[in-house]
Amino acid sequence: MEEQYKVKVSDLHKSYDGVHEVIKGANLTVMPSEVVCIIGPSGSGKSTFLRCINKLEEFQKGHIFVDGKDLADPKNDINKIREKIGMVFQHFNLFPNMTVLENITLAPVKLGKMDKETAIKEAHKYLQMVNMDDKADVRPTTLSGGQQQRVAIARALAMKPDVMLFDEPTSALDPEMVGDVLNVMKELAKEGMTMIVVTHEMGFAKQVSDKVAFFYGGVIKELGTPEEIFDHPQEPETKSFLDKVL
Ligand code: ADP
Ligand code: MG
Repeated sequence: MEEQYKVKVSDLHKSYDGVHEVIKGANLTVMPSEVVCIIGPSGSGKSTFLRCINKLEEFQKGHIFVDGKDLADPKNDINKIREKIGMVFQHFNLFPNMTVLENITLAPVKLGKMDKETAIKEAHKYLQMVNMDDKADVRPTTLSGGQQQRVAIARALAMKPDVMLFDEPTSALDPEMVGDVLNVMKELAKEGMTMIVVTHEMGFAKQVSDKVAFFYGGVIKELGTPEEIFDHPQEPETKSFLDKVL
């Protein structure tokens, strides 16, 4: 029987200039409801890896399967696959000229997922989940970074994704804002969302991950449970990285 993975990356290779590979044969399998945290040094290719998973970046070799659909197969409708993959960025990327509510209802209505009335109802539901429903009618620019990031998470959830990708969602936040965003992510994990999270928050990675992937030099150098990676790292590069950040 076929493995019931949610995301499977196999032998992924990617270069930006056609010469220097940034991703050099990376592999990762994520099962439904699993939370995988990706840690590793700056410049090792973590963002590029994540961006390949929803085809924000092209890749030259390898396969990425999401719900069994191969992103490398030109016959597959990439926009349809992408609708099922929510992404949250370091810098929120909300539309500044729209209200919080409009930010959230835009894509589901535009893509014909639901009518406007339903989208608004749904949006309030997700805003309640991230504790931002009282700010539905304001512009994002009037909000703190942590509040904007929680709206960005609600916006991604409104598309009812199968998988959520987070690229350092708390790195741009003031320290006192980090906890609220991490709590929302913990809640999502508890509800069974499949999540791939690039993060420098080692406490979060330890507490919430099913697996931790140590990304180094364009590959996943070491993969294991939080205990394996944080308490018994095997690779010298993992040990040296953890010595610096813990
Ligand atoms: P990380 O997220 O781990 O810090 P990145 O994926 O951002 O790493 O970057 C990996 C490598 O790819 C770096 O050497 C970076 O300079 C390069 N890179 C990232 N984005 C681009 C781009 N759009 N064009 C060219 N090179 C890039
Ligand atoms: Mg990055």
